[in-house]
Amino acid sequence: MLSEELKEKYQLVVGLEVHAQLLTESKMFAADANQYGQSPNTLISAITLGHPGTLPKVNKKAVEYAIRMGLACDSEITRHNIFSRKNYFYPDLPKGYQITQDKGPICVGGIVPIKLSDGTERVIRLNRVHMEEDAGKSIHLAGEPDTLVDFNRAGTPLVEIVTEPDIRSSEEAYVFLGEIKKLVKYLDICDGNMEEGSLRCDANVSVMLKGAKEYGKKVEVKNMNSFRNVAKAIDHEHERIIGLLEAGKEIVSETRTFDADTGTTASMRTKEDLNDYRYFPEPDLSPVVISEEWLQSVKGSMPALPRELFAKFVEQYGLPEYDAAFLTEVKGVALWFDALCSKTENYKAASNWMMGPVKSHLNESGLDIAEYPVKPEALADLIALVGGGKVAFSTASQKIYPELAKASGESALQIAQRLNLIQESDEDSLKPIVQSVLEENAKKVAEYRSGKKGLMGMFMGEVMKKSKGKADPKVATRLLTELLEN
Ligand code: ADP
Ligand code: MG
Repeated sequence: MLSEELKEKYQLVVGLEVHAQLLTESKMFAADANQYGQSPNTLISAITLGHPGTLPKVNKKAVEYAIRMGLACDSEITRHNIFSRKNYFYPDLPKGYQITQDKGPICVGGIVPIKLSDGTERVIRLNRVHMEEDAGKSIHLAGEPDTLVDFNRAGTPLVEIVTEPDIRSSEEAYVFLGEIKKLVKYLDICDGNMEEGSLRCDANVSVMLKGAKEYGKKVEVKNMNSFRNVAKAIDHEHERIIGLLEAGKEIVSETRTFDADTGTTASMRTKEDLNDYRYFPEPDLSPVVISEEWLQSVKGSMPALPRELFAKFVEQYGLPEYDAAFLTEVKGVALWFDALCSKTENYKAASNWMMGPVKSHLNESGLDIAEYPVKPEALADLIALVGGGKVAFSTASQKIYPELAKASGESALQIAQRLNLIQESDEDSLKPIVQSVLEENAKKVAEYRSGKKGLMGMFMGEVMKKSKGKADPKVATRLLTELLEN
């Protein structure tokens, strides 16, 4: 653990490079299916394998998805895009080069605002978002001497999202990644699944003396398979680098690999023996020119963004920011809630239902919101029953909701009637009950009248018992007060 003194002395500086696999049907430059989990080496055309004489073709959808990402982050969209070859040898790279954007990325600059757990707001600037293709996958089976290679992933479209070195703590890195995941899922461009490698992150880490004008030398850490591990790797490097500096040692620019079992990192290669990739413009692809018309059509088809729905929930529905943050965490939930709000005007009650019974139901059943069986209008009807005093919230959530969740087509009102749960709010039918309770408890009534106001609860309890829990508490209280005070 770093001492307070060292934490005061040094500033952590982090920049992230996030690779997101795009949810296109086919690959970046070939018609092979872009699918995870298929039998090895079944989605591999001659183009993907880079056979001589084959010609790549750019996937238009992939370009549109990259533009979506840029628009969502307020990046500038490059109109004239060229691809480059990045040359290197690796067994999972059948062509011997990767097609990427070296100069002139499709999205330049941009911002991703984040909010930390203590409420602090920060803006992380993006350096760029560029398009490229993924490599295949080497598989090292435990106990086997050989390495296997699966080219199915080769040519999968990627965007690489590169931040400026604006991140100042592992928590900021963690929150930023959560924000990126949320964003790509809202944009429908990536499934955000870190376990399957759809979202991968490298962390560049350095420290400098607080107040220094220049950044320190950085190391790059790879192979973290969860956001937690990215944060752990950053914390580990933070301490390790400060330890080296305090011992008077030099920091070497290098690439390190993270070991999830030990939470530590080890050197993979230093910058000195880093490849010279010999980038040059890809001769087999003509430039991708994004016309004004094309850009406008992508703008016009942008899905709702989390920040837009957040603003709508706060401004239009008058909800607290806390509610809006919860409701916009998952796109499906936000859209379901928005549909609910077109069926009820009791927005706060609707939000409470989402944060309470609906959330517990989803958690307990393990259902995704896409599989959630209740229709927005059905829940809106239940909210109206409570709002109209026909049933108490507790009855609605504990007795009616579980029936509604069976989605048998029975409405909230029908369920309430079938289970005999409609509250007695009709004064004429409640009054005899209240009167008989008071008659049967004459002694208590006298005590109440001589000042023991606390007996009200007991009278209410009796009214509830007699009405089999169906008395509307508001009406019952009013009747009791009237009869007791007179
Ligand atoms: P390189 O040329 O080594 O690839 P880049 O300038 O392309 O470095 O930056 C790669 C990533 O490293 C970016 O996310 C950037 O924000 C980050 N980065 C650059 N310098 C530093 C630094 N001194 N400390 C931490 N991160 C840095
Ligand atoms: Mg770089």
